[in-house]
Amino acid sequence: MRCPFATWKPLSQNATQSRIIPTQIIFHSATASNIDSVWQYMEDGSGGAHTESHFIVGYDGTIIQAMDTQVRADAQFAGNTSGVSIETASNASASDPWTSQQIESLAKLGKWLSEVHHIPATVCHDFVSPGLGYHRLFTEWNLNAHSCPGNARVAQFPSVVHAIAAPPQPKPKEEHPEDDMFYVRAVNTTAVYRSNGQYKQWVTSLAEWGVSSANVVLLDATHSLLAAELIGPAPTTP
Ligand SMILES: [Zn+2]
Repeated sequence: MRCPFATWKPLSQNATQSRIIPTQIIFHSATASNIDSVWQYMEDGSGGAHTESHFIVGYDGTIIQAMDTQVRADAQFAGNTSGVSIETASNASASDPWTSQQIESLAKLGKWLSEVHHIPATVCHDFVSPGLGYHRLFTEWNLNAHSCPGNARVAQFPSVVHAIAAPPQPKPKEEHPEDDMFYVRAVNTTAVYRSNGQYKQWVTSLAEWGVSSANVVLLDATHSLLAAELIGPAPTTP
C-alpha cells in the first residue's frame, strides 16, 4: 500500500522483489543525514547487492516511501519477509536522538501502518511476533550486530510506541439543543420536580418538552417533593 501522507518515490526493486504480508514495523538509523542520498544508495546498491527500506524519514519529518508496504524490502534479515522498515536520517555514527519532527512523523506513520495492516501497537515479543521493534532488538534481525538505531533512539523508542498506541484525540463536544430534552426525560423518570410559585411555568416547560403535566401532578402527589429537590434545567421564560 502507499501511504497518503508520504512522498511516493519507488525504487526499481519494487518491480522485482516478492510480495509480503507485513506484521511488524521496524525502525532504523540511516547513518546519513540526507534522505535523498539514502534513497539513491538503496537504488544504486553496493557490489551488485541491494538493501532497501520501505520508508525514509528526514530530520524535518519529511517521509519518502521507497517501497510498497506489501513488497519485501531487505533491511533486517529474518524480518525482511514480515517487516515494514523505516530508515531515519541520523549522524554518521547514529548516536544522535530523533528530532521532535521525526518522532511526530514516526508516530503518524506507525499509526497508519498499524491501522491498514492490523499490526498491534505493542513491542514484538520475539523476532517473528507481530508488533513494533528496532533493528538491533533481535539477533535474527541483526546478523551484522549493528548498533542500529543507536542508544539515544533505543531510549526514545518506548515514547514512539506510546504515541502509536495512543487513541485519537476526542473531538470537542458540541452544544446540542436535544440535550435539554434528554435531561427532562431523566427528571421525569427520577420523579423530581418543583412545586413552588414557579410551578406553572415549570409544568408548561415540561409540556413543551413532551412531558405531560398530568405526570407532574402525579409525581407531586406521590413524592411530596420540596423545591430544593429540583434537578434539571431551569424553566425557560417564553
Ligand atoms: Zn538498521
